[in-house]
Amino acid sequence: MKTKDNNVASDTRKVRCSGSEGSLGHPLVYLTIKKEKISCPYCSREFTYRDVIKKGKQI
Ligand SMILES: [Zn+2]
Repeated sequence: MKTKDNNVASDTRKVRCSGSEGSLGHPLVYLTIKKEKISCPYCSREFTYRDVIKKGKQI
């Protein structure tokens, strides 16, 4: 199951990230999506809270 490299949709406001699959990982971090999305400080992946998408809001 692959999504676009830099954008991950999440059903919850709490997400965790340990980098890309494979060798380019980083220490596991937990992030909270406070508004619509948050970027991982390590790998810059963006996590979008899925509820925002459901409401059809443009990000
Ligand atoms: Zn990350």
